[in-house]
Amino acid sequence: MSQPHIPPGHAPRPTYASHPRGPQPRIAVVGGSLTGATTALLLLQAGFDHITVYEAAPAAAPRGGGLIGLEHPALDVLDRLGIDQSEFITNTSETVIEVTVRARQPIHTTRRRYPGRSTTWSLLHHALTRRLPDGVLQTGRRLTHLDQHHRQPRLRFGDDSHALADLVVFADGRSSTGRRLLDPRRRLHYAGYVAHRGHTPTGSGTMRDFLRLEAGTGCQYNVAPVPDGLDWTLYLDCSPADYTHRFGAPPQRRMFAMPHHVSAAARAHVDIRAAQVLPAPHAATVHATTTRMAVPVMDIDAPTRMVWPVGAGWAVLLGDALAPVRPHTARGANNGIEQAAALTAVFTQHHRWDADLPTALHGWQRRCLPDAVTAVRQGPPLGAHLGNHP
Ligand SMILES: Cc1cc2nc3c(=O)[nH]c(=O)nc-3n(C[C@H](O)[C@H](O)[C@H](O)COP(=O)(O)OP(=O)(O)OC[C@H]3O[C@@H](n4cnc5c(N)ncnc54)[C@H](O)[C@@H]3O)c2cc1C
Repeated sequence: MSQPHIPPGHAPRPTYASHPRGPQPRIAVVGGSLTGATTALLLLQAGFDHITVYEAAPAAAPRGGGLIGLEHPALDVLDRLGIDQSEFITNTSETVIEVTVRARQPIHTTRRRYPGRSTTWSLLHHALTRRLPDGVLQTGRRLTHLDQHHRQPRLRFGDDSHALADLVVFADGRSSTGRRLLDPRRRLHYAGYVAHRGHTPTGSGTMRDFLRLEAGTGCQYNVAPVPDGLDWTLYLDCSPADYTHRFGAPPQRRMFAMPHHVSAAARAHVDIRAAQVLPAPHAATVHATTTRMAVPVMDIDAPTRMVWPVGAGWAVLLGDALAPVRPHTARGANNGIEQAAALTAVFTQHHRWDADLPTALHGWQRRCLPDAVTAVRQGPPLGAHLGNHP
């Protein structure tokens, strides 16, 4: 049968022989960072109205904001949400320059293309959360427990309040309460080194590309231009005792060291190491940086499932809540965004076309789990290549 001719730019909007059946499910998203906000926007776009995002941090809490590489599938999801790349892409270069450094001098340089673009957590988080309709994002709501009320999942919060949902999406990051409740045997282990991060408003000059310096055992420096300066990361070995001394708590407790946690000792340590290993202009950039943060690199056992029944409802883990991965894999945010898009397809097929929900959720798990497992397993060899603890 011949297909009707559709002039370019005039593709019809889909019309459905079927349409959402029954009452809309109540969907609770726990965590309002990149994965949670993306999930909520995709579900809203798909026509689900009863979405609430519960975010532990108060609205005014300071948040980390470092450089993140997004590959094309994640960029395409953001495109479909109608977010123009000019809002969150830091620069349009796809070039990564990799330099081997010895005795503070470059000895070998290679260039490669990255299949995506760079953003920062802050730019992307702002682009996402500003699109959430009023009332969807509830800040200052820390989930502490999940139980059942008449077989319906019930979320309990630190302030003794509670909420009911049909589906609970845990996007609550690497120290996830959801993971602790649903999959308690998977614990985080400190990998023995730290991603020290800094943002400086000066020094970008003519820099356009992402630059990586491999400066010998246990030391890698990444730097790239961002709209208001430079953003850098310096990976350095650090014992648990030194981490506690420098950032005020052990790595398992202080998963994000914000600027006010960075002690003078931490700052001095980074400056000294930068002066020992980095070429002088980069050491000077580090030295001049006032806004600093740090993230201890953590490992976790690979996940074996993403979906749990809770009474007559369901709970799922995704993003860093499912599997925090080492930053060198550059997959954490990508995984979360891709999993959110695939999960939205599951809920849509179930609600619009009456697809069996357990089957659809297990199909989602079967499709997404291999990529999450691969990223978890890639981390230690990549760290070992840098000379960091495997
Ligand atoms: C140095 C560095 C470089 C990186 N580079 C890349 C890269 O190039 N590409 C890439 O894809 N990824 C990268 N990542 C990883 C990426 O930043 C993370 O994977 C991503 O930010 C995780 O997003 P998330 O929303 O899943 O979790 P998070 O950003 O951790 O958000 C979790 C949210 O849940 C909230 N929360 C926690 N507990 C509760 C609770 N009990 N109740 C309610 N809310 C709660 C938190 O406050 C937080 O807002 C990098 C990470 C680092 C550290």
